[in-house]
Amino acid sequence: MPELPEVECVRQTLAPRVLGRRVRQVKVGIEKVARPGAEALARGLRGRRALASRRQGKLIILELEGGAFWTIHLGMTGQVIIAERRPPADHIHIGVTFADQGPSLFYRDVRRFGAMGFWPDQAALLDGPLARMGPDALGMDDQVFAGRLAGRKAPIKGVLLDQTVLAGVGNIYADEALHRAGISPLARPAELGAKVLRELNRRLQETLAEALAQGGSSVRNFVDAKGRPGTFQQAHRVYQRAGLPCPACGTAVERIVLAGRSTHFCPRCQK
Ligand SMILES: [Zn+2]
Repeated sequence: MPELPEVECVRQTLAPRVLGRRVRQVKVGIEKVARPGAEALARGLRGRRALASRRQGKLIILELEGGAFWTIHLGMTGQVIIAERRPPADHIHIGVTFADQGPSLFYRDVRRFGAMGFWPDQAALLDGPLARMGPDALGMDDQVFAGRLAGRKAPIKGVLLDQTVLAGVGNIYADEALHRAGISPLARPAELGAKVLRELNRRLQETLAEALAQGGSSVRNFVDAKGRPGTFQQAHRVYQRAGLPCPACGTAVERIVLAGRSTHFCPRCQK
């Protein structure tokens, strides 16, 4: 699943290709990937221009003229493709053409857990995809990070994945940051001191920044809006490396299931 660095790479490569262009037509193939529905998405976007872009967690937010918003959530396998004509690939569910007759935007999603949305104003956006979403993890300062985690008694791996606590971290970056910080995925935030949480945030920020610089991690089918895969998967230390040696100490990386998600860690480095 694309996480914060991958989604940010998509946003950065998408923005220069859509900002300032007026939407001409939107065609939605299946209702499930359109919010609040196919008709509302198509009618809302038609005739509007996106003027700015931002991201919160795994959500791309395009600010439309007139105070409305266009959101893109990639779910597990969503891809944004910019092309002159509809690509031959299957699983393309949304096509957006522009009044300038330039390249169109296509939304492809094999698993269909992602969605594109239209929200007429800020209140609708806050009630919709941003409802209950915590602050973005990227650039979060140590004090805010410690405050979000303080007192929580669930295993820290699950807390990091909880998008209401902080937004954008998924399975890859939770496992990688915990390894770099030397913290067991089973540790409970309530039992960790301020110094340990500060170290975890430092390692999390470092991991996210490195991944972003390398175009994200391409597990499954991730590519950015220019069709380029990332390379950070080559730098993973524990994620999906069960049985392989920990790069720090050589002990075999272990895999357990925690909060319903596979979790990878070094039993020696992470206490
Ligand atoms: Zn180790």
